[in-house]
Amino acid sequence: MLRQFELVERVKSYDPNADEEGLNRAYVFAVKMHGSQKRESGDPYFSHPVEVAGILTEYKLDYATIVTALLHDTMEDTAASYEDIEKLFGTEVATLVQGVTKLSKIQTQSEHNKQAENFRKLVLAMSEDIRVLLIKLADRLHNMRTLHFCKKEEKRIRIARETLDIYAPLAERLGMNKMKDELEDLAFKQLHPDAYQSIISRLNFLREKGGDLTERIVEQLTKDVAEIGENVEVYGREKRPYSIWRKMQRQNISFEQICDIMAFRIVVPTVADCYHALGIINTKYPMIPGRYKDYISTPKSNGYQSLHTGVIGPFRQRIEVQIRTEEMHEVAELGVAAHWEYKQNMSTTVDGKKFRWMRELLDLLNNSSNSDEFLENTKISMYNDQIFCFTPKGDLFSLPKDATALDFAYAVHSNIGDHCVGIKINGEIKPVRTILQNGDQVEVLTSKTQNPSPEWERFVVTAKAKAAIRRFIRNEKRTQFIELGKALIQNLYKEHKVTFNEKEVESVVQNFKQSTLDDLYVMVGEGLVLPSDVFYKLHSEKRSTLQRVVDIFKRKPTKINKEEKETLIKGLVSGIALHYSRCCHPVPGDKIVGIVTTGKGIAIHRADCVMLKKYKHEPERWLDIEWNENSGTDRVFPVSLVLTIMDKPSVLATISTTVSKAGSNISHLVTRGKSGNFIELVMDVDVKNTEHLEDVIVALKALPFVVSLKKDK
Ligand code: MN
Repeated sequence: MLRQFELVERVKSYDPNADEEGLNRAYVFAVKMHGSQKRESGDPYFSHPVEVAGILTEYKLDYATIVTALLHDTMEDTAASYEDIEKLFGTEVATLVQGVTKLSKIQTQSEHNKQAENFRKLVLAMSEDIRVLLIKLADRLHNMRTLHFCKKEEKRIRIARETLDIYAPLAERLGMNKMKDELEDLAFKQLHPDAYQSIISRLNFLREKGGDLTERIVEQLTKDVAEIGENVEVYGREKRPYSIWRKMQRQNISFEQICDIMAFRIVVPTVADCYHALGIINTKYPMIPGRYKDYISTPKSNGYQSLHTGVIGPFRQRIEVQIRTEEMHEVAELGVAAHWEYKQNMSTTVDGKKFRWMRELLDLLNNSSNSDEFLENTKISMYNDQIFCFTPKGDLFSLPKDATALDFAYAVHSNIGDHCVGIKINGEIKPVRTILQNGDQVEVLTSKTQNPSPEWERFVVTAKAKAAIRRFIRNEKRTQFIELGKALIQNLYKEHKVTFNEKEVESVVQNFKQSTLDDLYVMVGEGLVLPSDVFYKLHSEKRSTLQRVVDIFKRKPTKINKEEKETLIKGLVSGIALHYSRCCHPVPGDKIVGIVTTGKGIAIHRADCVMLKKYKHEPERWLDIEWNENSGTDRVFPVSLVLTIMDKPSVLATISTTVSKAGSNISHLVTRGKSGNFIELVMDVDVKNTEHLEDVIVALKALPFVVSLKKDK
């Protein structure tokens, strides 16, 4: 394990201004907080954060990153809180530690590999600061290096799988090839131990058989490119076990058929030298077609640059040659971190500017294939317009930012959304309109009897949910209007003692520019076509007998079904769309009239409502209706009362108790004004009928501090 002074020395070697005292404190803090905790290897737990910090020093990362690495498991696994860390090490470090802690809560499940790309996006989205991701990668690397100590096979496999699916590709995306290579080989060894072993022994065998072949090729290539000048290096290496295996898998070939297991690198001073070296190699050795790639003129999205070519080498071996400059080489190995180091050393600017490298790197990422990736400053704002949430089974759904739990339900399936009655977020019951956070686990509770409510449309944000809710409500309304329209026409037939004949009505559908009978019923139900227009179109001879259309509705329909009995109002058929108007708040017991409105079915008004003036010249809209004496007693109606009261302590409490003692309920209360010692209140109470309302009014008037009380007009 890295000792305290060694770690500090390493950081000082590339950042002489680093806060030595802070590093020492962080080291001691980690040792103290993790106390006697042990790793599965038997090592003291604090060896882990120290090793993670050590890995990050290889990437020459900044002070805050190294301190965070030392503290990265303290929030999760020890008593240390965000506040503790903020107090001791500042907000930057505390925020970074919190970021790593949040990230460690994401766990994949092996059967959901198809969603790997979504998981990678989730990790990126949750990282926010790119340093969080770098620490997470180093954390994962150390855990992979020590994975063989883990006793549970299932866990080993899950972690290795996750590394291969999520973290190695992320390292690659950040251009950290060295990290990616090691993660891949460690995971491969865990997941396919037999394949790993056989490739290793095969490589050993070839090495013995070929003697110093690699060395001899390096020697020859060095001579070949000597004319370029000084500072040219040639390296030889074998391909890594995982990439050999991948190739065998991908191309379905045996180990023997993989010829270019040897790869060579030529590192030269300038870009021009790269093409010069390429010219030499391609002139001297036969090229293998299809193996030439120019990543210098077209870098990979992670910033990787090199020339690749495949040739039949000096000893008739197929070899791969990569040609690059020193700087390209650094970037290829260290990725993000190389940018950091490079810019850090180049830049003499003051603090705050030092993260310019980040922007440049992010530009590179930004130019990658996905146009939705955009980043700025040190924040990874990639995917910040998206969030990612899980089902209890671990399926991942991506939703727009600000999506609610109900949007999630609709994202799973429109049926699930339609029947959603409740939501559990991370195991807790929450309102369906709750805005989801990245990584939330969302369980949708459904019931077959639940249907979408028009309310829902107001808070969902996804087009899918909106469309599904609208579709449902439209269908629902349509059904109601069809019934209403048909009933209105039927009533006219009855009034004129003509047998209702639906075929007959259907024959005039086109006269009203409708295409189906139901469409015509909807028009009538919505009040856009008058039922009398339909009837007289068919029976013009009856027109003279009309006195007032209103009369028609005085009679009860003869057919009374069960639902009819339950309706509160006489003279209307069941299933019609009606609403109680808000201008006059009719209550059972009041004299009422119905008005056929445009698009909203029938509006019930009090007979003395001032709004009725509007319909004076449209008698055909009026329906004479009255309350059913035995109307259901469950339903309550709001009535607005205006009270003037004296301002005294606890008057509102007394009013509220009085109302509830009278068997009512206050549904809305506002103060309209205050003058001197008097307050005017507008209060909506729920009552069953006029009698009930009278009770409430009397009880309130009896209160000593109520100065006046009247129904609101
Ligand atoms: Mn850790």
